[in-house]
Amino acid sequence: MHEANENRYSEMIYNRCGRSGLLLSAMSLGMWHNFGSSAAYSNMAEMVTTAFDLGITHFDLANNYGPVPGAAEENFGRILRKELPAYRDEMIISTKAGYEMWPGPYGDHGSRKYLIASLDQSLRRMGLDYVDIFYHHRPDPETPMEETAAALDYAVRSGKALYAGVSNYTPEQTEKMAALLRGLGTPLTVHQPRYNMLDREFFEGLEPTLAKEGIGSVCFCPLAQGLLTGRYLNGIPADSRAASSSPFLSESRITEPLLNKVRALAEIARNRGQSLAQMATVWDLRNSLTSVILGASRASQIRENVEALKNKDFTQDELDQIDRILKA
Ligand code: NDP
Repeated sequence: MHEANENRYSEMIYNRCGRSGLLLSAMSLGMWHNFGSSAAYSNMAEMVTTAFDLGITHFDLANNYGPVPGAAEENFGRILRKELPAYRDEMIISTKAGYEMWPGPYGDHGSRKYLIASLDQSLRRMGLDYVDIFYHHRPDPETPMEETAAALDYAVRSGKALYAGVSNYTPEQTEKMAALLRGLGTPLTVHQPRYNMLDREFFEGLEPTLAKEGIGSVCFCPLAQGLLTGRYLNGIPADSRAASSSPFLSESRITEPLLNKVRALAEIARNRGQSLAQMATVWDLRNSLTSVILGASRASQIRENVEALKNKDFTQDELDQIDRILKA
């Protein structure tokens, strides 16, 4: 069993999630990669306990994280029971449903049938009575949004989840879901969009809607899956995501023009006394974002990225230089 760091709340920043009572650590830990069925328990447990010891309270999962789908929830449940059984009330645990999870017409998209069955499965896999946030993982153009909203409302009313969220919804879809949920008496507390230096448009287009509706934002892929780090500057390391069997980051994404940008950004980071991973993480947090979800393959990456909070402010000149590189 892990003995948690007594000073875990002394350095982390906690941001209010929209117009809610929920405070989230400015950095969260996500389990999309590196928590699958063949991952080593000791490494996964070290990542989770390191994050918790650094004040990270928010842990992000989804029904399909693995491989195999469901494995990340099972592994996280095991880590909670074995390493951190006394700390459930100090954690915000999120899960999602919206992508394909099981065969047949009820294992995908946005129906009430799928969402509630999936949430029940997630709770069983993690060994939990409730999750803190339940997200609809992606919009479903075919299910009436009224039905998806009713399923999220039921998840909260039944006590299986404490807060409702959506991910990958456009501003119009977000506004409609917020209104439907408001009508049912359950606020839409949080949105999970992609956001990083190389991929800014989606979140920046969404920000006014989130501000108007009082919805918090927890962004994913803050390091563009590792592209915004020093990881690929000297080739493709054998233990990296691009070299792994992950279908989400292929070696063909790592082009010379991209590497030139990354080198120029790394130079600005160096002048700030940071690694590029550190600078890219806090750059996301410079405006209204509630939290960035860090992904990691080892505990040292989490330590390095959290350390970046000590130097989170940017001069206007640094922001302009970064913008010029990104627009080039
Ligand atoms: P990032 O963009 O932060 O990429 C994480 C990867 O970057 C790590 O696995 C590691 O790569 C590399 N890395 C991290 N820190 C460092 C460092 N200090 N130095 C060098 N390399 C580093 O996030 P993810 O793409 O992993 O996404 C984060 C989370 O967001 C997910 O776990 C999930 O919870 C959520 N998510 C949600 C989605 C949604 O649709 N709602 C979609 C995608 C993600 P390596 O493994 O090569 O070491």
